[in-house]
Order: sequence, then structure tokens, then C-alpha cells
Amino acid sequence: MKTKTVAIATLGTVAAIALGYALYFDQKRRNDPDFRKKLKREKKKIAKKAKQSADTIKQKVSETLEAGLEAVNQEEFPTSVDEKEKFFMSQISAGETLCAQGEEHYFEAAMCFFRAQKVYPSPVELIMIYQKTVPEPVFQLVVGMMTLEHQKRQDGFYKEFPPEDMNVKIEDIPEGTNGEGSTVMRKGLVVTKDFEEGDVIFVEEPIVSALNTKLEGGDFCNYCLKDITGDKVECANCDQVVFCSQECYEKANEEYHQYLCTNNKTNENAASSQEQAFLDYSKDKNVKYPYLIARFLATMVHDEIEKAKSGVTDGYGSWDHVDRFRYLELAPTDQNMKELKLIKELLGPKVTGVEEFLTEERFLMLKGKILFNAYSVQSIGKAEKAIEKSTELHRESQADLSSVGSALYRATTYLAHSCEPNSKIEFADKSHKLTVKATKPLKKGDELNTSYIQLEDKNTEQRRNQLAELFQFKCVCPKCESD
Ligand SMILES: [Zn+2]
Ligand SMILES: [Zn+2]
Ligand SMILES: [Zn+2]
Repeated sequence: MKTKTVAIATLGTVAAIALGYALYFDQKRRNDPDFRKKLKREKKKIAKKAKQSADTIKQKVSETLEAGLEAVNQEEFPTSVDEKEKFFMSQISAGETLCAQGEEHYFEAAMCFFRAQKVYPSPVELIMIYQKTVPEPVFQLVVGMMTLEHQKRQDGFYKEFPPEDMNVKIEDIPEGTNGEGSTVMRKGLVVTKDFEEGDVIFVEEPIVSALNTKLEGGDFCNYCLKDITGDKVECANCDQVVFCSQECYEKANEEYHQYLCTNNKTNENAASSQEQAFLDYSKDKNVKYPYLIARFLATMVHDEIEKAKSGVTDGYGSWDHVDRFRYLELAPTDQNMKELKLIKELLGPKVTGVEEFLTEERFLMLKGKILFNAYSVQSIGKAEKAIEKSTELHRESQADLSSVGSALYRATTYLAHSCEPNSKIEFADKSHKLTVKATKPLKKGDELNTSYIQLEDKNTEQRRNQLAELFQFKCVCPKCESD
């Protein structure tokens, strides 16, 4: 603990010294004309020194925080609610005792408050309590450790994702320059080995998917979007959705359907329920994105429940993925606000936190992310089945296949658009499971791209107009640029 308390003490001392210097210089400057010349010469030196010493302090503080964070993260934390509560109380009480023992115990105290925060269900709320009750330097240390932990988590994301066996990684790709002349970067998907034309690069399950509402309850599985050829599995509580297997039914129920089910088999007031209102709206408008959003919110809650069960508090969930996606800017139109209201009424009473989480801004961003990134699940030949499409935006490149729904993926989202793509999307087993295949020979380090639209015989102007209108970007792919 010695070096840590020293670092904190130094912070105060240096601040005092700096202030002393400032006063001294100010007085000299006013009284001694020759001093100005000297000052000018010395100014650069002083600035350099001041920066060095500020950097040293910063460095020391960050080392201190780093050490504290590492020590805490190597400890084991309780998992059951009872144990967590006991642990929380004991850490708070230990922190308070240490604070009372004086400044040299501040760092240990901060570690106690930081530990307590790790088992508390609502860290933000706790921070607000700390701010009022904990001595300022201790509070700063706790916040410092939390910030550092958050930063590490942010930085670590693209090291863990995508996993190595997907044969791709996410890299910063330069994409033109902005108004001030600096390079604009975007994230892109790069292959980590060579591929031949026709090779499968990776296969991916979605974060969330939804059927075209017109197909709901018919021949398609509500969970995996498969065309059901065998026996259908019905929901025990409603007759509005069907599943291809018991497994899909159970997964759907666990992840989202329990919150969305109208219960019209068992509840006589089902017709006037929020669930029915939500279903009616989606069918009437022929839109599936409100469902996709509701399912996504339910999935996030499911993630948290699973995390709590396994006792793993770090690791990345669905929100960590979606939070990083690009999105279209949306206006708070009447339809958008109506959808937000419906989702809040549907999930608010059942899912803790939805009311606070789903602000107007977050809803529009979430919808904008789905619009920009969702893929149309094109799994049925148009000749086989003609399916009425929703008017919602999705990435759809096949002219001869019908769309049964839309889905949002973790890695495939990062595929760039090109009018001369080097990969294509397939739904090989006719479910929402997506396959990315090479359509050209690829070398390790090549960026993957696919087409977001049907290319057919469109000329450059037509392609560019369509992409600008739908996805709000100007295509600068080699094919467009060479024209
Ligand atoms: Zn299924
Ligand atoms: Zn149901
Ligand atoms: Zn293009």
C-alpha cells in the first residue's frame, strides 16, 4: 500500500507547488522588467517540465488504479443474492472504518467501495450515493477504477470478437476524408486466411430475428424461421405462433416469447391485452421491427439473467455488440413514437428497467441500427412461395428468393457493401442461420464485402441512388468509382 498512498499524497503536494510557482511568477512579472526576457526563455523549459511532472502524476495515479483494479479482479465474488448482500454490507462498513482512520487508508477504503459496487445491482445509483457520503479523494479513486475497468472492457471487445474459428477479424478501414481533410475510419471484416471461390468463410446465428408478420402462425417457425415440413409445435398458451421443434419453442419462450405471448388460449381477457394490441399493430402495418426490438430487449434481460446464474460478471452481451453498430438517423415520427409507446406498454410491467432504458433517443437509435444492419432472410425460392414483403429496410441481394423475415447478426453486420462483391450470403438450412461464402479467391488480409441491394443490370447511377436513398451513403466501391 505504501507506494499507492505516496502517489495520492504527491498529487496534493504538486498541486500546491504549482500554485506557489504561479504566484511567484505573477509577482515577479509585475515588478521586474528584465524578468520578462528571462521568463520567455524559461517558459518553454518550464512548460516542458510541468508537462513531464503532470505526466508522472498521471502515470502514478493510473498505475495505482491499475494495481487496485487488478487486485480486486483477482478476488472471488459471491454469486447468490444473500451472499452478495452480506458481502456488500461488510465492504461498505470496512470502507467507512478505513476512511475514518485517515488519509493513508483512503486507497484501501476505495477498494472496499469498488468491491461493493461490483455486487450491487445498480452501480450508477450507488455512485450517486457514494458522491454524497464518501470523502472526495476516495470517491475519485472509486470512479477512477470504474472508468479504467470500463475502458479496458471497451478496448478488449475486438480482441475477443470475432472468435478465431470464424476466420475473420474486425479492423479499422480508412474510408475517404472528412471536411477538415483527416481520414475517416470505419470498421470492416478482414479474412485471416486464404479462400478459394465457393469456400464457406463462416456460419453465424443471429442475435435476434423475426418472421414477416403475415407468416406468423402459419408454416414457419417463430424462432428459427424455418419452413416447417414435419409436425408443428404450438405454444401452450396462445395459438398465434408455431415452432418447428420443441427445442425452438423452449428457446423462444425462455428468450422472449414469455413476454410477448397473448395467452389467448388460457386468458379470456387476451383480446384486450397489450400483447394482442402489439400483434395487431404489427400485422396491420405489416412490420416486424417492433417485434425485433421487443425481442432484442428481452434477449438483453435474458443475457443478464444467464450472467447472474453463472456468476460471470464480465464478458460481452448482446448490447455490447449492438452498441457498436452503425445506424441510420431517424426522426421521432408519429409511427416511431407509436411503436415506442406500444413496446413500453408491452414490456414495462414485466421487464424491470425497460421504462428507464428505452428513452426516445435510445429507441430511435436501436431502430436505426436494425434498419441499417438487418439482413433479409431469403430462404425460399420465389417460384416455390410468393410471400408478401414488409416495407422495412433490410440488406437483400438475391432476386430469385423470397424473404421470410429479418435478422441481426454479430459479425456479418460488419460486411461492407460493394457493387462487385467478393462474398455472398446464404441460408443453407433454410433457417435464420447465415453462411458467408467467397465468390472470388481471397487472400489473407482482404476485406470482405457483399451487396446490400439486388444488383441485376442496374447502372452506376441507379445503384448509387438506391443506396443513398435506402442506406444513406454514397457508394465508393471500385465499380462505381471507375465509371
Ligand atoms: Zn425452429
Ligand atoms: Zn404463446
Ligand atoms: Zn458501388
